[in-house]
Amino acid sequence: MFKINENYLKLPGSYLFSTIAKKVSAYSAANPDKEIIRLGIGDVTLPLAPVVIDSLHNAVDEMGKAETFHGYAPDLGYEFLRNAIVEHDYKKRGADISADEIFVSDGAKSDSGNIGDIFSVDNKIAVCDPVYPVYVDTNAMAGRTGDYIPEQQKWSNVIYMPCTAETNFAPELPKETPDIIYLCFPNNPTGSTITKDELQRWVDYANKVGAVIIYDAAYEAYISEENVPHTIYECEGARTCAIELRSFSKNAGFTGTRCGYTVIPKELERDGHNIYATWYRRQATKFNGVSWPVQCAAAAVFSEEGQKQIKENISYYQENARIIASALDELGIYYTGGKNSPYIWLKCPNNMGSWEFFDLLLNEANVVGTPGEGFGENGAGYFRLTSFGDRENTIEAVERIKKVLANLSK
Ligand code: PLP
Repeated sequence: MFKINENYLKLPGSYLFSTIAKKVSAYSAANPDKEIIRLGIGDVTLPLAPVVIDSLHNAVDEMGKAETFHGYAPDLGYEFLRNAIVEHDYKKRGADISADEIFVSDGAKSDSGNIGDIFSVDNKIAVCDPVYPVYVDTNAMAGRTGDYIPEQQKWSNVIYMPCTAETNFAPELPKETPDIIYLCFPNNPTGSTITKDELQRWVDYANKVGAVIIYDAAYEAYISEENVPHTIYECEGARTCAIELRSFSKNAGFTGTRCGYTVIPKELERDGHNIYATWYRRQATKFNGVSWPVQCAAAAVFSEEGQKQIKENISYYQENARIIASALDELGIYYTGGKNSPYIWLKCPNNMGSWEFFDLLLNEANVVGTPGEGFGENGAGYFRLTSFGDRENTIEAVERIKKVLANLSK
């Protein structure tokens, strides 16, 4: 008899962003004349860089001619792209990663979920609280998280590592030993980072207890301060405990173009098995690669001109973050992030709850942000704003927020 995967039935009602979308459409339907500014979802707004577009056009033309047509890509992705990744993202950082340890993919979200395929459901995961919801939900789908406890908005078999103002929004080593540890720096949602020494402590810990770290560095391009590691492989010993996820979404605007990559060093072994070989087997069976035009476009990001052009876009978003941050400074609102990250994580004023503040901004300022509570228990009372909007909207949103909060304090 047919049976559904019951793990899916355990998932709580709706994904955070669907709840937000429903609230926003209800408000828009009731107030069609109001212009809503979205500083909520982490999607970019600037178009692809000119060199990326040229490369896409050229590759599409190639697909139209027999002599230059490309069918299935190699399992790991094209070598020219993997070589460029190694040169720019690893060698420059003093990290020892070779081109055949890179698996080109359609993005970090799918890889962060798919990687669980190769791990036993008996493994226990540790995640930050607050957390990018995909890590937890994909493990729930796999049956690795136990039961959902609605009152606590937590799963019974997950180690939650609190990231609060007291911990500088970084996790502390957990008391209970996990098998898989998800770390994301610069962090979504808090925008926090950790130093190289702090990350080294995690690498040493994972090697000691035999855990695997899944290190999501999707926001690496936003790092502007010294002593913040750009890759976990800057740390000694990371090759024997860490998998790294990377994305072209936030550095080069590929959210709709889709490209990312996963790094697995060949000496990563657990339970007597080689993790690299297992992931290779999984990808070769379940994934048929990224299209020729998209891999060419990703390679163009690493050209001299490409690097210059994407840096202009990143600087644009960084300036938006600065505009939001200086308004919060003016208002005396506590926040973190924004410096090495496109996210600003603020404490809701007047001890408001996250959803209460969400409703206030939606109804009174027509600005949409993301309630911190949606990312976990420790996000309660916090709110995430993103710097991915356009400049005019960011300035306008900040002015509206200032007005609403000024009225609030009257
Ligand atoms: N990882 C984190 C932490 C993210 O915040 C996001 C997107 O918001 C992703 C991964 C998704 O990246 P991609 O677009 O490459 O799937």
